[in-house]
Amino acid sequence: MRYFLAIIGGGPAGYTAAEKASKAGKDVILFEQNALGGTCLNVGCIPTKSLLYGAKQYYNATHAQKYGVAAENVTFDFAAMQKRKTIVVRKLVAGIKARLNNDHCTVVNGFAKILSPSESEANGLCSFSEQSERSYCVECNGLLYEAQYIMICTGSTNFVPPIPGIKDNPAVWDSTDALAATELPKSVIIVGGGVIGMEFATLYHELGVPVTVIEAMPSILPNLDPEVVQILLDKYRKAGINILTSTKVESIDGNTVKLSTSELLSTFNSQLSTLSAERILVSVGRRANLQGLEALNGLELERGAVKVDGFCRTNLPNVYACGDVTGKIMLAHVASHQAEVAVSKMLNDQMVNDQMVNYLAIPSVVYTNPEIASVGLTENQAADMGFTTEIRKLPMTFSGRFMAENEGETGLCKLILDAEKQTVLGVHCIGNPCSEFIAAASFAVRKGYTVAEMQQVVFPHPTVSEILHEVLH
Ligand code: NAD
Repeated sequence: MRYFLAIIGGGPAGYTAAEKASKAGKDVILFEQNALGGTCLNVGCIPTKSLLYGAKQYYNATHAQKYGVAAENVTFDFAAMQKRKTIVVRKLVAGIKARLNNDHCTVVNGFAKILSPSESEANGLCSFSEQSERSYCVECNGLLYEAQYIMICTGSTNFVPPIPGIKDNPAVWDSTDALAATELPKSVIIVGGGVIGMEFATLYHELGVPVTVIEAMPSILPNLDPEVVQILLDKYRKAGINILTSTKVESIDGNTVKLSTSELLSTFNSQLSTLSAERILVSVGRRANLQGLEALNGLELERGAVKVDGFCRTNLPNVYACGDVTGKIMLAHVASHQAEVAVSKMLNDQMVNDQMVNYLAIPSVVYTNPEIASVGLTENQAADMGFTTEIRKLPMTFSGRFMAENEGETGLCKLILDAEKQTVLGVHCIGNPCSEFIAAASFAVRKGYTVAEMQQVVFPHPTVSEILHEVLH
């Protein structure tokens, strides 16, 4: 059978594309070597959020005195938290299966490999002649499949940096190992103070595990607004999380890391240039998965990822790529949005540039406590792009609801405006639950709303979202 679309990878990009194209009546085949749902559902967003929620319940129960509540003998059961996480994941994966259960969608479990034109011609199934309509040929589990379009949604895997002693070291974990563990480590060193590093730092700290974070850059979360990050840094350091910035891991020996850092040497004596913990969690970024694509001769890459345009088209005809494999912004909601745009383009070539993926209007959230949520340009990025900016900012305490529910916290909401046009270029918040209202700011950034237009939006009272209204005055 010849399919309209063959999708390689069943994460948020792949399953969104499969659902959209098959519901439009196109015959789709989706290949997934592991479980449907990809990294996000199985070993990323959902399991971490499930565990973080459990940790937050425990932390809140043991820190409730400030709200007039005293709870004694509060305990937690990490194995039970893990069990609940597994059930949440299982239910969501079943939901994806149900969404793909239609007459136009076939799901194949196995590793898929795209065949070269010569391999395809040899088996006589797929045609690459100039005259005929183009086809690609995919092999999986020893069977061959032909498709008019290919969508590469193969995702990414944890990057293992070339640090001596890291490979085959049982003390070293990546985020997948940490999520699978049935017991908490007694202590942990986290290498990389990015999004994964800071979310695991939050999880372990809230469950009482001593945490050290080692970050090579001068600040943790180096891509976010520095003022917002500083608030988190101050709070976490005060709470006892040991955060070492401008610090590099030179080598690992068993469960001891050797560090080199000007900051460390100026703060402590040189004996402190080694640190030990039961586990060393390495979270220094992810890399695109390119296995199975080798035969796509001439596929253009950019910084180790598949290069795509605003409609997620690669340089090869009828070949699209979506999600982490494109190396754009490695977030599940970027992957699913890219897939929606890509399938729309496949089905309707008349789409205009305004309908391309706008990477400047992608919201992102870091699930620390307090949460950080942002969208659009930071002050520095806006300046680099030549904007003259106007900054408006307020502590979150200007929201009555925030005051009622966030004792001892100040938070921040910061707006980056184009000073000349008065349009919203970026919004950066820290304070719970800013993850829940950053989408409102995304509208403003995506649509290029002016301050006056945003002021027409009514926010319900009392909600923390009102800070977006307050900060405009
Ligand atoms: P990241 O790029 O966010 O952070 C990696 C950090 O490691 C950076 O701060 C970097 O400076 C630091 N680093 C690199 N090499 C180092 C070294 N040798 N020693 C010390 N520090 C070093 O990557 P991540 O945290 O691994 O996350 C991977 C991807 O997953 C990101 O794109 C992230 O956005 C995504 N993710 C998103 C969420 C979310 O949306 N809430 C959650 C988890 C992961």
